[in-house]
Amino acid sequence: HLKTYTQNANGENYEKKWYEHTKKLVGEYIDHHPVPTCLRNHAFIQEVAAGGGPIQMVTKEAFQDPHLETVGWENFLGMTVGQAVVWASQNIDPKYTNPELTTSEPYVMGSHATCSGAWVSGPEDLSPPEYFWGYNRMLTVDGLFGAGDTVGGSAHKFSSGSFTEGRLAAKAAVKYIQDQKAEGINVTDKQCDDFRETIYKPLENYTVGQNEITGGTVSPSYILPIQGLQRLQKIMDEYVGGITSNYMTNGNMLKRGLELLEWLQEDLENVGAEDYHQLMRAWELKHRTLTSQCVTEHTMFREETRWPGYYYRGDHLKLDDENWHCLTVSRRDPKTGKFTLEKVPVYHIVDEKEKKQAS
Ligand SMILES: Cc1cc2nc3c(=O)[nH]c(=O)nc-3n(C[C@H](O)[C@H](O)[C@H](O)COP(=O)(O)OP(=O)(O)OC[C@H]3O[C@@H](n4cnc5c(N)ncnc54)[C@H](O)[C@@H]3O)c2cc1C
Repeated sequence: HLKTYTQNANGENYEKKWYEHTKKLVGEYIDHHPVPTCLRNHAFIQEVAAGGGPIQMVTKEAFQDPHLETVGWENFLGMTVGQAVVWASQNIDPKYTNPELTTSEPYVMGSHATCSGAWVSGPEDLSPPEYFWGYNRMLTVDGLFGAGDTVGGSAHKFSSGSFTEGRLAAKAAVKYIQDQKAEGINVTDKQCDDFRETIYKPLENYTVGQNEITGGTVSPSYILPIQGLQRLQKIMDEYVGGITSNYMTNGNMLKRGLELLEWLQEDLENVGAEDYHQLMRAWELKHRTLTSQCVTEHTMFREETRWPGYYYRGDHLKLDDENWHCLTVSRRDPKTGKFTLEKVPVYHIVDEKEKKQAS
């Protein structure tokens, strides 16, 4: 374990300073050990707003120990190579200079920090009956299995949890086949042809639309994946609690964000791809837009701030366990694109005492 800690520009431990303030927002959640990452982010954001930035990660002490220095580089290069590249570009050797720490654009991962992701069946031995539907890790779509970052319900899977879950899902999928549950699946030629046409449409959009361009790269008939990506990023950033707004949003901002996402989705029917690589980019963009719509819907439905430091609902700034100590599940109607959401209970299968001991 790399023993680094953070400090403000004056060398003070600022996290302590924000304890009472954070307690008012989240209650006893702040007393968990280790302190939840979102709440450490929250202290960071408050400290910077109060004039204490830039924040530093204190690496100079730990890196004097050659073993910890090796561990440190393994961690940094393993987690985020880009960070090491930034240090190189700024002439920072963490052994001699404490690097600056900052927050980033939010990103969506089922395995980390929040519980977002696809809704899957739990295991046969531990699940409450309504959370087990025949095969561990099977989605609500019969015969489709998921694991790792794609699957929700657990905030602390990380790498080892993700590959373990992959193994569980694969075993359950094999059992599904052995039980002959997959026998009835018939795919017609027409289904394949329709699917092929949909998938390759961005190539056709490009090939046809390209003829209308007389100079430059801007087309009156299609948008490029990079243009769509920038537009998506801007919508999420400004309306759905991105870094531009210091992670702050509210019901009206989210509603507006959803409108803008709907228009983006309409325009993505006309995304153009000049080759297979851009075709992949086009589909990544379409899927990211769907994920963004889902994130926005869930953030709007949950009228509280469950993870201060990751995002804030300015109109419901507190963590509200009385009304929102639950999971929220959604279904998107594939025909209309509309979401329906509901609350479902969280069951604590690990005893509170055991949990405290473990932490
Ligand atoms: C910045 C950062 C730091 C992290 N730090 C840690 C850490 O210190 N310790 C830790 O344990 N975990 C860490 N994690 C989490 C960990 O990396 C993930 O939980 C884990 O990699 C998830 O594994 P996965 O197999 O579910 O997904 P992934 O590893 O993302 O694998 C999904 C794969 O699917 C491929 N793919 C996507 N679409 C398609 C398609 N249409 N067709 C074919 N292939 C496709 C992708 O290219 C990718 O290779 C970190 C994550 C991030 C982003």
